[in-house]
Amino acid sequence: MQEILIQIKNEAMSLIVGAEERDIEQIYIDFLGKKGKLTLAMRDIPKLNIEERAEIGRLANEIKDILEDQINDKRKEFKKTSKTSNHNSSGKQRFEDLDVTLPGIKPPLGSLHLVTQAIEEITSIFEKIGFSRVRYPEVEFDWYAFGALNFPNNHPARDDWETFFIEQQPDPKMGPVLLTPHTSSGQVREMLKGKLPIKMLNIAKCYRRQSDVSHTQMFHQFEGLVVGEGINISHLKGVLEFFVKSYFGENRTFRIRPYHFQFTEPSFEIDVTCGVCDGVGCRLCKEGWLEMGGSGMVHPNVLKAGKIDPEKYTGFAFGWGVERVLMMKEGISIDDLRLLYSNDLDFLEQF
Ligand SMILES: [Zn+2]
Repeated sequence: MQEILIQIKNEAMSLIVGAEERDIEQIYIDFLGKKGKLTLAMRDIPKLNIEERAEIGRLANEIKDILEDQINDKRKEFKKTSKTSNHNSSGKQRFEDLDVTLPGIKPPLGSLHLVTQAIEEITSIFEKIGFSRVRYPEVEFDWYAFGALNFPNNHPARDDWETFFIEQQPDPKMGPVLLTPHTSSGQVREMLKGKLPIKMLNIAKCYRRQSDVSHTQMFHQFEGLVVGEGINISHLKGVLEFFVKSYFGENRTFRIRPYHFQFTEPSFEIDVTCGVCDGVGCRLCKEGWLEMGGSGMVHPNVLKAGKIDPEKYTGFAFGWGVERVLMMKEGISIDDLRLLYSNDLDFLEQF
């Protein structure tokens, strides 16, 4: 028994010493595996008599430890050399290791945020009917945001409670500096460019002191302004109809309600039929209509502020919320506007 074990050890050792990388695992299996030579020999140990058993057992375990150590050393050695050769080689070895038939690992792809998608869609709809997208400052003088838009000095929107003011010395002519509470601040800036007719689409961020399921402190508006000779309410209705059908779908319709805004006369609120209940009335809309936002014919005082003769030219304007129309389109799948800005991928990846 002792001789057999020593013979196995010698055979294994000579193989291990001369082994190539590809042989080493096979050597392990042949000697130390379940049906390996040493393993099978050790199974006979319990059959020996008591005196022999202890001694042979100890020897067998010693041999087993030695072979395991030798094989492990050899494995480490191969690992080291293959690493260095991979780094230093011309790439041949690496190329041989590369199996081009294996499926690749798909990198996670990002996508445009829902609001960005909506802005792109809205822009392309209005571009089809001749509007040009413009951008104006979001940190703006009070005059462009309120004064030029026919807001009296004591109007509540100018209050600290509605608008974010920047802490700095007010301009003697333009007044304090604020974060634009609406995209309408771009109207007079566009008029002052001095080019007529105007067909602008101003999409920008707006800021107000508000936060609940349908309001966030920062949101987006898209503002249309058309000024030229002979512009009237029927033009406004035509643009509105084109937008509602293009954005919400052929089955949606709208209504115009009289309202009051400082910078338009007459002024209207626009409602669109609810997409969830088709205008019948549901939990979301209550009476079948969803409020989209304001519009109206540009007030003569606003034209005057923009150095446009109100006797000769007329115009209409509308300002609607990007997030609001997005919610109206998606229905109850977006029931809290704040979700749009919570950066929750589980939510955003649904769209
Ligand atoms: Zn409804």
